[in-house]
Amino acid sequence: MTGKTPPIIGGIDLGATKILSVAVTRSGRLLAEDLRPTEGRDGPDAVIANMIASLRQAVASAGGGQLAAIGIDAPGPVDFARGVITSPPNLPGWHDVPLAAIVEKEFGVPCVLENDANAAAFAEHRWGSGRGSRHMLFLTVSSGVGGGIIIDGNFYRGASGAAGEVGHMTINARGARCHCGCRGCLEMYASGIAIARLGRRLVARHPESLLARLAREQPLSAKLVHQAADQGDEGARDLIAEAGHALGVGLASLINVFNPEVIVLDGSLTKMGDLYLGPARETAQRESFAQNWSDVRIVVGELGDRSAALGAAAVALEAMRATAK
Ligand SMILES: [Zn+2]
Repeated sequence: MTGKTPPIIGGIDLGATKILSVAVTRSGRLLAEDLRPTEGRDGPDAVIANMIASLRQAVASAGGGQLAAIGIDAPGPVDFARGVITSPPNLPGWHDVPLAAIVEKEFGVPCVLENDANAAAFAEHRWGSGRGSRHMLFLTVSSGVGGGIIIDGNFYRGASGAAGEVGHMTINARGARCHCGCRGCLEMYASGIAIARLGRRLVARHPESLLARLAREQPLSAKLVHQAADQGDEGARDLIAEAGHALGVGLASLINVFNPEVIVLDGSLTKMGDLYLGPARETAQRESFAQNWSDVRIVVGELGDRSAALGAAAVALEAMRATAK
């Protein structure tokens, strides 16, 4: 071997159904990736073996270069400082798994573990729609609502790393009980699960609507409501707008509290476009202070399905730079 090979940073996005590994340069340029099923039913050992094989494949496809650090992101709560997955709700059999240490030992390079929404926020801030900003909020709106907060260029984790739970901000104190135990959380009104719930109510009231007809063929999901709305079902359009309005209520509070420069929205519901985002923007503008509103841009993330995996790599890079100092 002659000369120095450029370092590669690995990122592994551990999802409930899929594992996505990426190999990137220090500036976040994607060199290669590998996507495979999680096979979560087989338990942690099998999943970890899949993760290791996936990253090995991505690094091999990158075409040379030395793996320098690895970041992993996982759904649900993680102990960032110890690199331990505590108890993800959608990965059965995982309890206090020291994932970072296991992967670190396997590859012989430093490994960090981050929550998936935090990782995606990090990627959008470093390499995506929020790059160059100092004050950024990130919201991912899909079946649930998650988020991340960047203040003065730094990721804000809070006292014990639990900050950023924007989906569980109360928007209706007398509202429905959320699965988290609290009442009237944003996630109960603005998420994909909320849209599906409103959809079921609509179907019960209007059994002859287009949505009701579609729902006889396939399960009622936010995606199906979107399909019905696209095909002209007014009721379906209205309930997507209602969910968008709820998102706007949450955004307005965040805009007033944080005075961000940019809010990056990510997740499957952003694919509904103006049907959902139009009412969200209108409500956010109406319910926030004029000064704060004039400071903020609300944009959709650029990195799409890769945001969490790229973010995991970005977190690893950040940790590497911090130790080099
Ligand atoms: Zn909640």
